[in-house]
Amino acid sequence: MLARRHELLARYQDGRERVDQELAEHDPEVVERATEQWDASVVSKLGDADLAILGDVVTALTRIEAGTYGICTMCEEPISERRLVVLPEAATCVSCAGLVARTHSQGG
Ligand SMILES: [Zn+2]
Repeated sequence: MLARRHELLARYQDGRERVDQELAEHDPEVVERATEQWDASVVSKLGDADLAILGDVVTALTRIEAGTYGICTMCEEPISERRLVVLPEAATCVSCAGLVARTHSQGG
């Protein structure tokens, strides 16, 4: 579990670094503000994929703290170890993730 947490933190750092790089290309003033309003001003500058990963990583870290990490948030069954290795920030099991993906592709 500690290794997993370390991995998630590494991912989170990676995401933050990417955000910093994004911001570095912009106004220094924007960067200044971003440190205070990180989520608010940075969110719009990130790609959807990056954002989703960062959000999931933060959620996963929160769930480690709460002791609910590795449990599917939808069906409350344990998420397979294999899935967690591939996707440490996974919040749902494979079958629920499939359901969500299908729902998302239909909606819109
Ligand atoms: Zn599930």
